[in-house]
Amino acid sequence: MSALEPAEIFERISRRRFMTGAGALAAMPFLDLKALAQVGQPFQFTQGEFDITVLSDGTLTLPLEVLAPDATPEQRDEIAAAMGWADKMAHPGTNIPLIRAGDDLILVDVGSGDKFQPETSGELAANLEAAGIDPASVTKVVFTHAHPDHVWATVMEGGELRFANASYHVGGAEWDFWMNPDIFSQMPDAMHEFARGAQRDLAAVEDRVTMVKAGDAIVPGLSVVDTPGHTPGHISLEVAGGDGLIIAGDVTPNEIISLRNPDWKFGFDADPDMAIATRKSLVDRAATDATKVLGYHFTYPGVGMVEKDRAGYRFVAA
Ligand SMILES: [Zn+2]
Repeated sequence: MSALEPAEIFERISRRRFMTGAGALAAMPFLDLKALAQVGQPFQFTQGEFDITVLSDGTLTLPLEVLAPDATPEQRDEIAAAMGWADKMAHPGTNIPLIRAGDDLILVDVGSGDKFQPETSGELAANLEAAGIDPASVTKVVFTHAHPDHVWATVMEGGELRFANASYHVGGAEWDFWMNPDIFSQMPDAMHEFARGAQRDLAAVEDRVTMVKAGDAIVPGLSVVDTPGHTPGHISLEVAGGDGLIIAGDVTPNEIISLRNPDWKFGFDADPDMAIATRKSLVDRAATDATKVLGYHFTYPGVGMVEKDRAGYRFVAA
């Protein structure tokens, strides 16, 4: 199959059977979806001065040809087998780091809430509770970008902010892109739901948001890295301590595909060429400097090293 057009991708991901209903579960009889989400004690580690807990927001479902449009059918079968995806669909995880830094408690992205693929995602609230964390104690929230699986949990059903005492931090270019009133005339109709969601959630934090750019520190030792391409203002975070850690966001959407073939497109990248350049640069830097990476959509908890491997790279889970 050739690469899908963006409009077709968004049409497919937004179809009801991926969003709601028993059909979504019936279509994946071999998967125990609950087993894929974090339950019980979460993965924790220390990075320099920071204590980091990885909380799962559950899993998502998307067509494998959206995750790896450049792969041949045989390569897709091989990827699915390696990932344990038995139904020819991709089921990426969603790994949200909760970073304790002195008196600050910082979340990087907040997940889907009850609004996007709620049968299998939106688990952050339950996993925070299981970890004994009061949402009111979160002091800062950083958005890597404003896609539904990263920001749609911002506002709760009644309209209140889920993290009511937090300040919010987002790339200035990301804010400008989604809040542009002309966005709807510049996007295919199938993406309008994403734009409406981004505008809802960004507007909800407007009076407590800080626009950030490359090099800015969220707190000392936690710095913003510009990683555009997946979205125009996508940011990653660099955590100081030891050989460092890069919280990559969606620069590297899968631990096999993004490392073995960093020059392959990802169907959700807004600017595929820029996203590939950003991905290759981040992956090569992680391998060269032996810097840990945390991948939002890697298999839970998504923390590990990147090593050079023949023509590409490979991920070695921590
Ligand atoms: Zn994502």
